[in-house]
Amino acid sequence: MNIRLFKPSVGQEELDNIKAAFERSWIGLGPNVNEFEEEWAKFVGSEIAIGVNSATAALHLAIACFNFPKGKKVLVPSQTFAATATAVLYNDLVPVFVDSDPVTLGIDLDDMKAKYDEDCVAVIPVHYAGHPVPMEVLVPWAKEKGLRVIEDCAHTAGAMYKGKILGTWGDIGCYSFEEKKLMTTGDGGMMVTNDPELFKDVKAMRWVGIDKDNWKTAQSYTDEKRDAMHWFYEINVLGYKYNMNDLAAAIGLAQLKKLPAMNARRSEIIQKYMDGLQGVEGVMPLLPFEPSNYCYQMFGIRADRRDELMIHLKSKGIATGCHYTPLSMQPLFTPYAKDCGFIEAESERLMTLPLHADLTDEEVEYVIENIRAFK
Ligand SMILES: *Cc1c(COP(=O)(O)O)cnc(C)c1O
Repeated sequence: MNIRLFKPSVGQEELDNIKAAFERSWIGLGPNVNEFEEEWAKFVGSEIAIGVNSATAALHLAIACFNFPKGKKVLVPSQTFAATATAVLYNDLVPVFVDSDPVTLGIDLDDMKAKYDEDCVAVIPVHYAGHPVPMEVLVPWAKEKGLRVIEDCAHTAGAMYKGKILGTWGDIGCYSFEEKKLMTTGDGGMMVTNDPELFKDVKAMRWVGIDKDNWKTAQSYTDEKRDAMHWFYEINVLGYKYNMNDLAAAIGLAQLKKLPAMNARRSEIIQKYMDGLQGVEGVMPLLPFEPSNYCYQMFGIRADRRDELMIHLKSKGIATGCHYTPLSMQPLFTPYAKDCGFIEAESERLMTLPLHADLTDEEVEYVIENIRAFK
């Protein structure tokens, strides 16, 4: 057995879409990106979606949308991937690391409130593993304090929480289509909002400052607007080379169709893990998973003898991981670190188990058996 921790689930549908882009001979920023953006906006129920080349880029631009004065502070969980906090640094802002809720491992709302001060301008909740942050509490609090809310949705894709899809609760939501996520475009990301005014410069910011649709320009060569000055553009904002391209969007359009089925399969696997690991001494689920209500990018456990168990599973051909070493412990971030005592200690017990849509029942059973057999 050789069981991967994560694996993209891609096949003929994605290849067919890529082939169509090849036949059109348009593989950069183009019609597939436009279509994927429209489909994604519909899928999550947002006014607008803008495709970029990663969630890291999405987070960078999302913060940039607000033009915060340099040196202001942004509240971020310590227990997240580096990009949540590097996006703060890219914008010349200061991350304030918040401890985790002991039960869900999401951003701890009490610690968040305790660490808030007048210099804070935004908060970036991460729906850790896919489990919802209590947005019905966080958003009204942030509004009252005048904070902007950017949701890092890299671990969720389409989950409904109290009547709204995660990613549409805050001012801006950022999704990841990196290959280990719930659906993939190889690398890619999407940013969404219900406040179109916020996104007035985003198309320019993702493409070196130019707000112009080359695909539409190319079409206009053949229509009645023959004397339009097709070469004209203006650069008004500082932009980056962050656009999604049509090959990525070709994959994304096929993946989006499969996403509900892939999410359902992940939920099935999580239920099997939960049932199979019940009552195993020294092992408990990472968080109170609700696989019938939400979609999860990760499944994991908290284990008393974590390191030994990980090495035991490795010897059986089972990949495991640790998501994450809290950012407040990383050398880059220690100058900003604020006491995140709970998660810094608890992270030594966390391990991630294989979870992807192509995992077979036999493979899941094999993982469970080998955890149960560990003495
Ligand atoms: C993966 C991830 C990101 C970054 O996504 P990319 O698309 O790889 O840039 C951001 N935040 C979290 C929580 C992630 O897991």
